[in-house]
Amino acid sequence: MNMTDWTLEPRLREFELGDYLGAAPRWCPSCGNHTVLKCLQKLCKDLNLPPEKTVVVSGIGCSSRLPHHMGTYGFHSLHGRALPVAEGIRARRHDLSIFVVTGDGDCCAIGAGHWIHALRYNMKMTVLLLDNNIYGLTKKQTSPTTPAQTRTNTHPNGAPLEPINPLATAISVVNASFVAQCVDWLPEHLYHTLLRAQAHPGLAFVRIRQRCPHFMKGHLDAFVQDPGRLQLLTDSRGIDPGSLTQTVSTVPHDPTDFQAAMRVARQAEPIPLGLVYLNEGAVRYDEFTQRGLIMSAEEKLAVINAEFDKFAIV
Ligand code: SF4
Repeated sequence: MNMTDWTLEPRLREFELGDYLGAAPRWCPSCGNHTVLKCLQKLCKDLNLPPEKTVVVSGIGCSSRLPHHMGTYGFHSLHGRALPVAEGIRARRHDLSIFVVTGDGDCCAIGAGHWIHALRYNMKMTVLLLDNNIYGLTKKQTSPTTPAQTRTNTHPNGAPLEPINPLATAISVVNASFVAQCVDWLPEHLYHTLLRAQAHPGLAFVRIRQRCPHFMKGHLDAFVQDPGRLQLLTDSRGIDPGSLTQTVSTVPHDPTDFQAAMRVARQAEPIPLGLVYLNEGAVRYDEFTQRGLIMSAEEKLAVINAEFDKFAIV
């Protein structure tokens, strides 16, 4: 029996990891989704986020089943629609911690329009792009980030086009404020990335290079086996590298330098890890919606009536 006293203020309640566990995951063994789920649950516990004040929103895809496995609120939405759902929640609920889980097909194809405008709106939320370079749920179809020449079920002779670059695309959006990258096989760094993203006041976009051992077998093995093919970005405003400095080379990087961030975003190898871009001066659209919320009912009615009056026949 759950003995949690829900009448206490959230800050006075202590949550356990078990409070964030949902249904048992049914992803393939060794799927990178498992690591992301565990890191997210640990983050919620370490930050003592009240489960009833935490919401995980997703679109469609293997990774988008993640809200089912959390003990928080969740919204498993439509294909490509995770971000507008999350924006709607943020517009009305400034007291919630919001996480968005989206895949490379979900975010970078059908949801690309929403992705661009969510970055521009810069509403407070943490967006996790679980990028495994393939449509897994629909069984090995070419996604927007599938490397050229990869044989897939939609392109049996090899994907003909170069993939899009989610980091460079995100950085190029006006008013984007936080773009970071980590990998699923380094959970300590992934956790620190989520921690830093959650502390960011606007939209924190995190691309997670992720393995799909079922449909992209061996795709990232060379990087997993050789830490020399990874590179940590270091900066006082960046992500805590933790113990990774013992195995991965480091390079100083100023994330507020747009041109430097673009160079890093386009770097295929070594894979850059850390905070790629930071724009601390970005405007937050949810601050405008918050202002709207503090209008009284009478004030809102007056605004609505004034708008209707414009169409009045005199
Ligand atoms: S198909 Fe790929 S992405 Fe989907 S659960 Fe299996 S390993 Fe994970």
